[in-house]
Amino acid sequence: MAGTIWVIAETNADGSLAKSSSEVATLARTLAEVAGGEAAGIVVAADPQAAATELAGYVARVVAVAEPAAEGNAWAQVAAQRAAAILASEPPAAVLTGAGSDGRDVAGTLAALLDRPVLVNATAVAWDGGPSVQMSVFGGKLVTTSAFAEGEWGIVTVRPNVVTAEKAAAAGKVEQATPAGDLSLPLVRVVERIEEAAAALPIEEARVIVAGGRGVGGEEGFALVQQLADALGGAVGATRAAVDSGWIPYAQQIGQTGKIVKPQLYLALGISGAIQHKVGMQTAGTIVGVNRDPDAPIAEFADLVVVGDLFEVGKALLAELAQRS
Ligand SMILES: Cc1cc2nc3c(=O)[nH]c(=O)nc-3n(C[C@H](O)[C@H](O)[C@H](O)COP(=O)(O)OP(=O)(O)OC[C@H]3O[C@@H](n4cnc5c(N)ncnc54)[C@H](O)[C@@H]3O)c2cc1C
Repeated sequence: MAGTIWVIAETNADGSLAKSSSEVATLARTLAEVAGGEAAGIVVAADPQAAATELAGYVARVVAVAEPAAEGNAWAQVAAQRAAAILASEPPAAVLTGAGSDGRDVAGTLAALLDRPVLVNATAVAWDGGPSVQMSVFGGKLVTTSAFAEGEWGIVTVRPNVVTAEKAAAAGKVEQATPAGDLSLPLVRVVERIEEAAAALPIEEARVIVAGGRGVGGEEGFALVQQLADALGGAVGATRAAVDSGWIPYAQQIGQTGKIVKPQLYLALGISGAIQHKVGMQTAGTIVGVNRDPDAPIAEFADLVVVGDLFEVGKALLAELAQRS
C-alpha cells in the first residue's frame, strides 16, 4: 500500500469545482491505481459542499473543510494551513495541486509549512515509486523528468489541460472536517477583484480554436479571427507576439507562458509555430496553419498548412462556411 495521493482542490466563484481540479483529481486516481494506494481530496471553502460532492466523483475520499476565512481573504494561504493540518496527521504519498495562480500559492505555502519539496508545472506525471514528473524547461526546448529523493514525499503542481478529466466508476465519500485551532499565518484580505475581459467561451474548454499571431497585423485583424471563431463555434486564441502588442488580452495567450489547450481543431492564422507556442497547442486534434511562408516552423507539425495570405484565405473560408450553414 503506497499511501494516499492527495489533491487540494480549488473552487469557482459559484462554489463549483474548478475544471483544473477535476483534471488533477483524475490524475491522482490514475496514479493511485498504479501505486496501489488511494486518491483523496481536500476542499477548503466557506461552503465546500458543492465542490466536495463534485470532487467525490473523481476520488475515493474527500475531506470538506468549512472555513469562513476562505471567503474575503487570499484563499490559498487559508487553504494551505487547513490542508497542512490534515496532511501532518496522515502523511501522504504525494500532494497534487493545479498550476494556476491559486494552486501555485497553495503549493508554496504548504511547502513552507510542512518543509516539503515542490515540482512545478508538470506536463505529465507517471508513478515510479513516487511521482515521476515531466516539466518543460529552457523555453520549451527541453523536457525534464524529475522525482523526489527516495523516501520523501512532495507537492506537484500540474498544468491545466494536460489531463482529460474523467469520473471514477463509483463516487467516493465526503467527510466533513471542522477546522481545528486558529489560523497561524496573518490573513491577506482581498480588497478588490477585477475581472479580466475574456472571451465568452474560455479557450481551455473550446473544441475549436482560431488563433492569431503577429501576421494578423493588429487589433482590426483580430476581427476576422473572431468572425472565423464564431462561424466555427469556437474561441479566439493568440500568440505572445499578438498579446504583447496589445491586440488581444493575455487571457487568450496560448503557450509556455500562456495556456495549454487541447481543442479538436486548431486553426493558426499568421503564426510561425515557435516552440514556446507549440508547447501550448501541440496536443490539439487537428492543426491547420495559414501562413504565407511555406517554410514557417508550423509546417513541421501542422496536419495541414495553407500557404497564402491569411486575410484572403480567411475570407474565402468565411464565405464557404456561410454557404454551408
Ligand atoms: C520565455 C519565453 C516564453 C514565451 N512564451 C510564449 C507563449 O506562451 N506563447 C507564444 O505564442 N509565444 C511565446 N513566446 C514567444 C515565441 O518565442 C514567439 O516569439 C512567438 O510565439 C511568435 O509569435 P507569432 O508566431 O505570432 O509571430 P512570428 O514568429 O513573428 O510569426 C508570424 C508569422 O506570420 C506569418 N505572416 C505574416 N503575415 C501574414 C499574412 N498576411 N498571411 C499569412 N501569414 C502571415 C509570417 O510568415 C510568420 O510565420 C515566448 C518566448 C520566450 C522567450
